[in-house]
Amino acid sequence: MPNNDKTILVLGAGVGGLVTANELRKKLSAEHRIVLIDKSGEHISYSSALWVMTGERKPEEIKKNVPQLLRKGIEFIQEEIQKIDLAGKSVKTANRELRYDYLVISLGVSLSPEAVPGLAEALNKNAYNFYTLDGILQAKNALGNFSGGTLIIMVSSLPYKCPVAPNELSLLLNYYFSQKGIRENVSIKLCTPEILPLGGNGPTTGGIVKGLMESAGIQYNSQHVVQSVHAEKNEVVFDKGAMNYDLLLAIPPHKAPKVLVEAGLTEPDWIPVDRNSLKTKFENVYAIGDAAKIKLPGEWKQGVPLMLSKGGVFAHYEAKVVAENIANEISGKRERVEYTGRAACFVETGFGKAGLAQGYFFTTPTPNTVFLQPSRMLHLGKIIFEKYWLSDSLLFRALMDFFMENWIYGEYKKTVVSSK
Ligand SMILES: Cc1cc2nc3c(=O)[nH]c(=O)nc-3n(C[C@H](O)[C@H](O)[C@H](O)COP(=O)(O)OP(=O)(O)OC[C@H]3O[C@@H](n4cnc5c(N)ncnc54)[C@H](O)[C@@H]3O)c2cc1C
Repeated sequence: MPNNDKTILVLGAGVGGLVTANELRKKLSAEHRIVLIDKSGEHISYSSALWVMTGERKPEEIKKNVPQLLRKGIEFIQEEIQKIDLAGKSVKTANRELRYDYLVISLGVSLSPEAVPGLAEALNKNAYNFYTLDGILQAKNALGNFSGGTLIIMVSSLPYKCPVAPNELSLLLNYYFSQKGIRENVSIKLCTPEILPLGGNGPTTGGIVKGLMESAGIQYNSQHVVQSVHAEKNEVVFDKGAMNYDLLLAIPPHKAPKVLVEAGLTEPDWIPVDRNSLKTKFENVYAIGDAAKIKLPGEWKQGVPLMLSKGGVFAHYEAKVVAENIANEISGKRERVEYTGRAACFVETGFGKAGLAQGYFFTTPTPNTVFLQPSRMLHLGKIIFEKYWLSDSLLFRALMDFFMENWIYGEYKKTVVSSK
């Protein structure tokens, strides 16, 4: 009797990896092995992380041990992945080598402050990396001692994950300083290489979000490309000139994790995948989430090919598509689904309100997006989403999946029949 049991390795227990492993376990019978590997045993829900900076959440409220978030029957290995051997269909960690029939890669990004001259040195001296929980906690302390001056939020380079985050941070800080009664003492400036906020959502949404920031007295400095940071002078030099800061909150440049580059998966920066199936050019190898590069069907105005933004919401629904297709293939079912590029992301605006940026990102000539104006209901929606994400109740998660898939992300997939 041939052995038809399959091994699916899922790399990374972040947003994409957790969803993939859980969906596969739900759909596949027990003889098929699902192995999830991550160097960290904790899952941090970054969509709530900015609330830690403003004191609305404690760090322990936004993280969980990975096994608590997994269905029974998933093997979790907490080890660093050292090598991906695509020819040999195996993955190596310090203690073992695992062979796969299917590989799903969701290893996210590496942050690289050293790519901006002076930024790594400036971090921890009135400059903080708010894309790690440690950096957020340091920034929280710095904010506690901050009584006024210039605060710069800086996007170092494109692309970066969650294009909502720097804009959302500026609005949350507007609220934070207002609550502290020192808003008029603080000048909040956002500096970014982008033309408009949430660039991938197109000019209408970008214009609305920029308008929200400007009416909160936040200065939006578009098309500012950082050249260097000088901690001794509290100065950032942009291509458009130098700016001084009292507090600098930075998003460091992003790059693909080294193990992906060494495996020959990246071309040249991220892993190219088919936008509907998330397949790489290697047999039975899929890449999702921040590490993947998804070219959109339209063209950017300046002739640069438009890439799908990086964000948890994309990783989440790409994972569902990949898991469904792998499970159907293994189970001998003909049905296949395609990812449609549908996504939505809350934009916290402070004062107990949030907006919602929604859209179809695979439409031509540009993504078809809308922005729902900030309201208390949407803020409540973000809180429920947070509870869902970190819940270990299968029932609550199933109910929320049903709600989100039918009313929020209903059309994230399209059913297509396999030609086989
Ligand atoms: C401050 C902040 C706010 C955000 N807010 C939102 C939001 O509101 N909405 C939203 O949609 N997105 C948000 N994001 C973005 C979101 O967190 C990411 O886009 C999402 O986590 C990407 O999922 P992923 O699975 O691709 O990677 P990740 O979730 O980053 O997971 C990658 C995993 O791979 C592991 N890993 C990497 N290399 C190795 C290795 N060699 N060996 C073993 N393990 C490895 C890491 O430990 C990590 O657990 C935010 C991000 C930040 C920083």
